[in-house]
Amino acid sequence: MNKKEIIHTFFNRRIGVLATMYHKEKVMSPLLEEQLGIKIKVPINLDTDQFGTFTRDIERVGDQAETAKLKARYAIELSGETLAIASEGVFGPHPVMPWLPYNREMVFLLDQENKFELFGEAITTDTNYQYLPMKSREEAYAFCEAVGFPEHAVVVRANHEIIKGIIEKEQLDEVMTYMQNKYSNEEVIIETDMRALYNPTRMKHIQAATEDLIRKIYSLCSRCSYPGFEVVERREGLLCRCCGLKTKLIQAEIYRCKKCGEIEERLYPSGKQFADPSQCFFCNP
Ligand SMILES: [Zn+2]
Ligand SMILES: [Zn+2]
Repeated sequence: MNKKEIIHTFFNRRIGVLATMYHKEKVMSPLLEEQLGIKIKVPINLDTDQFGTFTRDIERVGDQAETAKLKARYAIELSGETLAIASEGVFGPHPVMPWLPYNREMVFLLDQENKFELFGEAITTDTNYQYLPMKSREEAYAFCEAVGFPEHAVVVRANHEIIKGIIEKEQLDEVMTYMQNKYSNEEVIIETDMRALYNPTRMKHIQAATEDLIRKIYSLCSRCSYPGFEVVERREGLLCRCCGLKTKLIQAEIYRCKKCGEIEERLYPSGKQFADPSQCFFCNP
């Protein structure tokens, strides 16, 4: 059997329930169906907004990974199927470089029949995620232009009222007039609509996370060919090219099989055998 046949046999042509709203299936379904040999179903009565929304009208119940898991379990319960895929994204300032925007997309596959679960992810600074306390129309228009409106939608909110999915200039004007009149003493905020259907930039990264999931599934154990042979640990200590001492850079990645427990150490995942002295604590303190 080749890799693809092994994977298709593993998932056994089952139905995979896609726990998603906002048309994420457009980018996810073709990849999952072709690569995993499953048939994707999107339940019409699935409300994933109950697990939290970007516009904060409903708070998240857990962190990103937990939320994705909850969605997948909920889809399995609701549908009676044994295979589900869920996706979840977060936006905000970059955790290490807070002056940069940040988007992490996760795609989670839960296979109850095989007792198998795996995350794919995509991390990027390529996101239009932004908001602006609105002072003038001119500022709002400039904001819209900067975030790629109208291909990317915006939302306007004040107090507990939120108007989402604004994709036309006329509609934007109407909403702004309405909100500024109604909340003349409060802050009116305009922000990007991060729902996948309204945000082509985000859609692209959901696709990348789906591809990452598939790539990880296609990584097979060298001993027993079980899918999802992936990194469980990263070891620091790449040696400095100049002084030969250990740096904080990754020297090896450890892979472990979920089935037979086979462990494999792969050296130099970055492709470099030594660290640049600029990354060395001793050469460049
Ligand atoms: Zn194995
Ligand atoms: Zn050094």
